[in-house]
Amino acid sequence: MSLHIPFDNSYARLPDRFFTRQPPAPVKAPRLIAFNEALARDLGITPGPEDELARVFAGNQVPTGADPLAQVYAGHQFGGFSPQLGDGRANLLGEVAANGTRFDIQLKGSGPTPYSRMGDGRAWLGPVLREYVVSEAMHALGIPTSRALAATLTGEPVFRETGALPGAVLTRVAQSHIRVGTFQFFAARRDVPALQALYDYVIERHYPDATSPAELLDAVIARQARLVAQWMSVGFIHGVMNTDNTTLSGETIDYGPCAFMDAYHPDTVFSSIDMHGRYAFANQPNVIAWNMAQLATALVPLMPDQEKAVEDFTKAVHAMPGQVHESWRAFFGRKIGLAEATAEDEPLIVSLLDAMAANRADFTNTFRALSDGTPRDEFLDPTAFDAWEKDWRKRLEREQAPDDVMRAANPVYIPRNHRVEQMIAAAVAEDMTPFNRLCDVLADPYSPRDDAGDLARPPQPSEAVQQTFCG
Ligand code: AMP
Ligand code: MG
Ligand code: MG
Repeated sequence: MSLHIPFDNSYARLPDRFFTRQPPAPVKAPRLIAFNEALARDLGITPGPEDELARVFAGNQVPTGADPLAQVYAGHQFGGFSPQLGDGRANLLGEVAANGTRFDIQLKGSGPTPYSRMGDGRAWLGPVLREYVVSEAMHALGIPTSRALAATLTGEPVFRETGALPGAVLTRVAQSHIRVGTFQFFAARRDVPALQALYDYVIERHYPDATSPAELLDAVIARQARLVAQWMSVGFIHGVMNTDNTTLSGETIDYGPCAFMDAYHPDTVFSSIDMHGRYAFANQPNVIAWNMAQLATALVPLMPDQEKAVEDFTKAVHAMPGQVHESWRAFFGRKIGLAEATAEDEPLIVSLLDAMAANRADFTNTFRALSDGTPRDEFLDPTAFDAWEKDWRKRLEREQAPDDVMRAANPVYIPRNHRVEQMIAAAVAEDMTPFNRLCDVLADPYSPRDDAGDLARPPQPSEAVQQTFCG
């Protein structure tokens, strides 16, 4: 049997100015290094022989039914507006519909496009495998995200600051790749017909119940508020929350310099290009509200009474931090065993986090130890935990099954940066064992296993990763 992808493309039917039609650029020696069989099955994809999968997912063979294109968008990058961005190294092959939801199948690292600017259109193996592992881990953690369907080697070198690196292509799957920046692109050009067409498309594809731009804005804000609170509940730092990396679907996309914290501190930043900590862990709620303000601005031209729209949208955006906060309280409440935390419970959550920050406590392991370990050992000064524990135990008396609540909210395994880096180094040396093991363990992150204790341990000082890069 040969590969069959049941394409049913809709973005390609939008007006020409939404994209540039072009096939991926073929590579020298395609080789399949990862294929997500479970995801393929869910998408109704019939896998073919390995060499065919390699050709298709490296971009050398356009599969039947694909209508490849590069999407155009704009975006605020670190607060500065770029009126013209777009898929500079990505190619949307097309869409498949599975169980009532439509998914994009996109190659990333598939060659230059009219939107490449100074870039080479390529990706190297490191970021490709990082995105593969981290996005699949996020999915298993229960966090809305793009997925990874395949990874291929290109057989061509990619040149980065550190020299020549193995080139690779990631196939990612998302409910769509429509970004705040997609709306901004047309709004900045005052192309209201295109803006209207994009709006209609997004309503049909993602928010069939919304009946106005105001309702769309509210719905996106609700999803993004929950998403960012969920990121924080697992210690995730996106790293590049530019408006072109913020989706309308409410899924996490664009895993560049993202990272999970080991020791907890709210000011943590990993990205080498985030000089001022704009995208620091604890700043993510502010940034997402700022990004929603940009979406709101881009939606205003669709409103009959624009002055009134500005007033209403401003209210919606100003209410957003409160929504993130409520989600945050619910997620962090469950992390300490409270099925439904109320405002009165917040000081208990905050005082634990403050003690953790002051004592370099490991974020993941401290929370997990609340049900399954000795949390005080995570603190430089264990008495900092003892003081908190008394109040906590007292509050837990009013809970039904706090251990179950905590075990479902506190993962044992996250893709720790040092393990991801070690996995990449091994893969560069042609050893995919650590990659396969990480994928396997992270697929079930809430269940401890006897054979994976090493993956739950924080890094030794010599292993710790201080900085991440865009790739
Ligand atoms: P990012 O920060 O990854 O969201 O990238 C911002 C923009 O730069 C996107 O439009 C990317 O398509 C583009 N880009 C990133 N890396 C490359 C590259 N190597 N070649 C061409 N375009 C790129
Ligand atoms: Mg991006
Ligand atoms: Mg990127």
